[in-house]
Amino acid sequence: MGLENENKHTVLQPKYIPTPEKWRNEDLTLTWLGHAGFLINFHGTKILIDPALYDKIGITPIGNYTLGVKRYVQSPLPATQIGQVDLLICSHAHTDHFDYPTLRHFQSAKTSVFTAKNTKQLWDGMSFQSIDEIQWGEEKQFGALKVKAIEGRHWGARLPWNKEMQANSILISKNGVNLFFGADTGYTEAIQQQLREVDIDLAIMGIGAYSPKSFEAHHATPEQAIQMAEEIGAKKILPMHWGTFKLSQECIDEPIKRFNLAMSGKLDKIAIQDIGATWIKS
Ligand SMILES: [Zn+2]
Ligand SMILES: [Zn+2]
Repeated sequence: MGLENENKHTVLQPKYIPTPEKWRNEDLTLTWLGHAGFLINFHGTKILIDPALYDKIGITPIGNYTLGVKRYVQSPLPATQIGQVDLLICSHAHTDHFDYPTLRHFQSAKTSVFTAKNTKQLWDGMSFQSIDEIQWGEEKQFGALKVKAIEGRHWGARLPWNKEMQANSILISKNGVNLFFGADTGYTEAIQQQLREVDIDLAIMGIGAYSPKSFEAHHATPEQAIQMAEEIGAKKILPMHWGTFKLSQECIDEPIKRFNLAMSGKLDKIAIQDIGATWIKS
């Protein structure tokens, strides 16, 4: 089976191990957990986005047993070390962004969930303080934090017939600081149109899963991701969705090589580019 060949590699240790217990509530601090997963302390609000922290992603036919592809680099923090978060955000229901074993781990009566339109039923059987859908153009308040769903160019179906499920890109704002999480999207001008009035401090952009060419419509190339970040005037860019799970034909490190080449001359604009690295905006 192809999958077995794909899964023969050893899982590497991340270069950096973050220390969220030392993060200050006055700052916006985040770390990349690999693929599209981020742990964020946004001025005191603890947020997890699209976490998939175990060794595999894919379908989970029985309990937490996962049939799918294996990570190339281990999560810099195991789920057990992250503790309880205030807000769990899932951009869309694809298995690399919506990982049942990880989501089940973070169940808590003190944790709220924002999930894409028509995906609430996927959370059935899990227990959280609240589970709210958020649809394109909608903004939800969470204390002093605001989360807005942005329409990118992707699709949200968990299974092929789940056509009603939306896929969100996400704007997160607090105290005048704005973070854009592109999630999965192909190149689209729609993003800049929706963010025209917003001063973006950091754009987290997917740069992988664009090959074969037919994938590019829904997963931007590194150059297209940079273009979108520039079009929204992002002060910093953080490249994600590469180097963790191989979901497409390009080599595992091709996206970051192309990204760095396209960013030459403006490397100071890159927030971080290693799994486990920490970025602070004080
Ligand atoms: Zn996706
Ligand atoms: Zn994805």
